[in-house]
Amino acid sequence: MRLIILGPPGTGKGTQAKQIAEKYNLTHLSTGDMLRKEIAEKTELGNKVEKIMKAGELVGDHIILDLVKKNLTLNFILDGFPRTINQAKALEKLTKIDKVICLDSSKELIIARLKGRAKKEGRSDDTPEAIEKRFKEYNEATKPLLAFYKNKLIIVNGDQPIEDVTKDILAALK
Ligand code: AMP
Repeated sequence: MRLIILGPPGTGKGTQAKQIAEKYNLTHLSTGDMLRKEIAEKTELGNKVEKIMKAGELVGDHIILDLVKKNLTLNFILDGFPRTINQAKALEKLTKIDKVICLDSSKELIIARLKGRAKKEGRSDDTPEAIEKRFKEYNEATKPLLAFYKNKLIIVNGDQPIEDVTKDILAALK
């Protein structure tokens, strides 16, 4: 199975992707995690993207596509990619996607969740300015993907307890 999980920042995409990956034995491919690893290891790539990520801006398509190509497996759930129509078109050339899960959530709840995460995990892009910027990027660059994937789209209410969100996703995938 080849899946994509989409949604605004802070909707719990990573948490849900891990659950789905375990259930269906898929590789969890998170471009954000890949980039954070590069930064932690202080690689050349990590140094290049650190400022961009911290500001909540999007990293260049060629960097992201290289990472995805390197890590793509037969069965996967993509989390945080594609984030633009351009990336989605590039992905079409690499593989065929079965379903696209979109986590729907209200901005107020997301902001509260992100503030909690900032305290707990200390992610450098969970500052108020970066959060605003990431929302803007989502609305302008990523939201058009919902129309792009309209025939494969599963929309799930992300404002529920974690287990209920997982249940709804699994039911829709059956
Ligand atoms: P995430 O963990 O998915 O929220 O991603 C954290 C940050 O990594 C984003 O705010 C971007 O700076 C960068 N990033 C992750 N995935 C992508 C992508 N597909 N395209 C561009 N930038 C990305």
